[in-house]
Amino acid sequence: MCALPAMTLSPKAVDFIDDARLTALTSAAPADFARVREIIAKSLSKEPLEVEETAALLSATDPGMIEEIFAAARQLKRDVYGNRIVLFAPIYVGNECLNDCLYCGFKRSNADAVRRTLDDDELRRQVEALEQVGHRRTILVFGEHPLYDADFIAHCVRVTYETKVGRGDIRRVNINAAPMDYEGYRTIKAAGIGTYQIFQETYHHATYAQLHPRNTRKGNYLYRLDGQGRAMEAGCDDVGIGALFGLHDWRFEVLGLVSHAVHLRRTYGVGPHTISFPRIRPASGVTLDHNYAQVDDEAFKRLIAVLRLSVPYTGLILTAREPPHVRREAMEFGVSQIDAGSRCEIGGYTDGGKKQNLDREQFALGDIRPLDVVMRELMADGYVPSFCTACYRLGRTGEHFMEFAIPGFIKRFCTPNALTTLEEYLTDYASPETRAAGEKIIADELAKIDEGPGKAEIVDRLRRIRDGGERDLYF
Ligand code: SAM
Ligand code: SF4
Repeated sequence: MCALPAMTLSPKAVDFIDDARLTALTSAAPADFARVREIIAKSLSKEPLEVEETAALLSATDPGMIEEIFAAARQLKRDVYGNRIVLFAPIYVGNECLNDCLYCGFKRSNADAVRRTLDDDELRRQVEALEQVGHRRTILVFGEHPLYDADFIAHCVRVTYETKVGRGDIRRVNINAAPMDYEGYRTIKAAGIGTYQIFQETYHHATYAQLHPRNTRKGNYLYRLDGQGRAMEAGCDDVGIGALFGLHDWRFEVLGLVSHAVHLRRTYGVGPHTISFPRIRPASGVTLDHNYAQVDDEAFKRLIAVLRLSVPYTGLILTAREPPHVRREAMEFGVSQIDAGSRCEIGGYTDGGKKQNLDREQFALGDIRPLDVVMRELMADGYVPSFCTACYRLGRTGEHFMEFAIPGFIKRFCTPNALTTLEEYLTDYASPETRAAGEKIIADELAKIDEGPGKAEIVDRLRRIRDGGERDLYF
């Protein structure tokens, strides 16, 4: 077993969260209509917002103003992302953990947790299970433990990429694990990871201290806050940030997330690739009765809409912690990625059965419908589910990630790649009903594309996939 590395900060590390300032911003008087409209206009011109501007959007109490914010978020999503939704599923690799985060079923003090780490064969079987239903992207999730050092995580990434069943393969492996040191990030980057995701959980210092005991590694707030910066300096230029909503005031956490995005952009020239905003769920051994700050569904939709407007170019991830009806409603306010068919027990895709078992998982999921069912609902609602992984594989990441800066990028790359990866899914994995829904969506999308060589190429690739058995034809 290797020791965990020393917790050395980047020379650029700075604690950019001023609790008093953010708290004051969350309790300021509501901004007037003129100011809110000015900020919305800035956002619709695809400029990221300052923290004060985000606070003004969060201050809205007038129902008409809130409706304008929702409408703007819907429009910005359409303008920047079109109607695509990227799909993935997590693999929980191991739940050994030395930390004691009060809200988590994997915390070391939870004696009921069934501790387990997948060996290579077990990991392969999880990957195969995802491939057999059509997934192309996964995120590997780990507790924080000497067993899960950078070499082990890198090894798991390689095993995942190497595992292929039938026409299936995983084309992008992301990571959600504890923050690393430079060496660790380099090791994991060399294995070919996509995004390295670290959630700050709560940006509020006092709440953070209450929930993460001082004598644990995670008790070090600044080491975690600096985690994405170190990753970028070490060459992992796709990083994800996130907050666990329900631990402290939701408006404060939104300001924390936006402060983090601003910090990364100003310090490293690139903002976060994704933002996650999970809400807390019941978990084994967890009774959170301290200042538990519930976020109701209405506030949840507002926080998604405000995040969308604040960071126009950052992907927003809505997880299966949420129940289906919330996912369906919240999607339109700016979500660009969701997981589907997910399980968060270790080994859950092969031996989880149909029911969830809290002692074996990190928390209870709200949506455990199979991928095929989620795909069908997405398409019935007019979305184009996408399994595209082209940008990352062609090196279009970090500051080279020009998806939105290049005029016409979505038309030339994103939509065609969404359609070809959807065609692969329909041909190899979909049920007859989902296939019919998918063929209709593809026809609708093709009808929106101008006639010409570009369209002819897409139509030809769709045919080669459907009738010729070709795969992985990305633009
Ligand atoms: N151990 C690593 C860490 O803490 O960064 C990464 C993995 S942890 C398994 C993934 C995320 O799950 C955490 O960052 C936290 O936000 C979230 N989580 C923990 N307990 C939760 C709960 N009860 N409900 C919802 N999400 C939870
Ligand atoms: Fe461990 Fe992560 Fe759970 Fe905290 S959130 S107890 S670090 S697995």
